[in-house]
Amino acid sequence: MSKRIHNFCAGPCTLPLSVLENAQKELLDFQNSGMSLMEISHRSKIFEPLHEETLALACEILAVPDDFQCLLLPGGASQQFVMTAINLLEDGKTAAFIDSGHWAQKAQSEAARIGETEIAWSGKDKNYRELPTSNDIKISDRARYLHITSNETIGGIQFPKYPEARVPLVIDASSDFYTRPIPWDACDIVYGGAQKNLAPAGIAVVFVRKTLLQDKKTAPKFLLYKTHADSNSLYNTPPTWQIYILNGVLKWMKSLGGVPYFQKFAAEKSQKLYEFIDKSDFYRNEIPSAFRSKTNVVFLTPNAELDTKFWQEAEKEGLSGLKGHRVVGGLRASIYNAMQMESVDALIKFMEKFAQENKA
Ligand SMILES: *Cc1c(COP(=O)(O)O)cnc(C)c1O
Repeated sequence: MSKRIHNFCAGPCTLPLSVLENAQKELLDFQNSGMSLMEISHRSKIFEPLHEETLALACEILAVPDDFQCLLLPGGASQQFVMTAINLLEDGKTAAFIDSGHWAQKAQSEAARIGETEIAWSGKDKNYRELPTSNDIKISDRARYLHITSNETIGGIQFPKYPEARVPLVIDASSDFYTRPIPWDACDIVYGGAQKNLAPAGIAVVFVRKTLLQDKKTAPKFLLYKTHADSNSLYNTPPTWQIYILNGVLKWMKSLGGVPYFQKFAAEKSQKLYEFIDKSDFYRNEIPSAFRSKTNVVFLTPNAELDTKFWQEAEKEGLSGLKGHRVVGGLRASIYNAMQMESVDALIKFMEKFAQENKA
């Protein structure tokens, strides 16, 4: 097999090796059909059971109650910024947002093209290093729903606990999906682009409370959750390859112990990195420990030149994707479910060496 590197990319990102190997094995001839999965009709006797099984596993692993509909939708998380607003917003109502950073702002800017929005809380004064509790949030009487970003992939902050709201709660869980349980009673729509923890890019896993599946004559039919719910996520040709890999990843997750296993694993991996960073007099992370992300660990060296030197040298040593997002700079290690402890250890070893060589 060709050499695999340590891939810390924020998404698309590393996938479980066993799932990729199985896909490779089945690539030309899926289940003795004489065709690749990519060449098979989405309405065939071969694909449909795989599709059904994937929907069922997506619910089972995250303990999704029956009052939620699971949807596999094309377009990723950004399309959900649009769909949540199209489906929920009404005249005279607003979409409330917790402004936690980059992705929350993107979600809000899409909703603002569809209707009115309001800010229920903003982390701007705290440099987007903190998140609110239920008491910090102010929602007007006109709010139709509250949107939050479970984990800010770029800022490296994560809600330790979702706030409670008296309006439906909509959650973008893209970058910590399936790394912790979802408090379903408190949530109404939970969605995530698959390319962080679940599958290749191009598909979103979406859970919608069934009471919110409503027709709306003024909206494009394709953008209504009800349309996709009524056709079991087979309204049009779905991204069949993504669903196939998602199926493999979900089975892999289940075989290891599901969400409890990955929650513990995410805590262990992130803790190891944060402990190392906090002990170091070279690296730093300025986020209060309560809000630090367990999937995207951001850090800085003493200056921006060294940050650049760090990821460039790391790249040469087989540690890839450590450059921070272009809007914030710095460094970032994304350590999603498929990231092994061995890779975290390799990163820490490189960090030690780099610090020694570059200390003033
Ligand atoms: C990556 C990401 C997105 C964007 O996902 P796309 O699938 O590229 O649209 C949205 N929200 C969060 C929190 C993300 O991490």
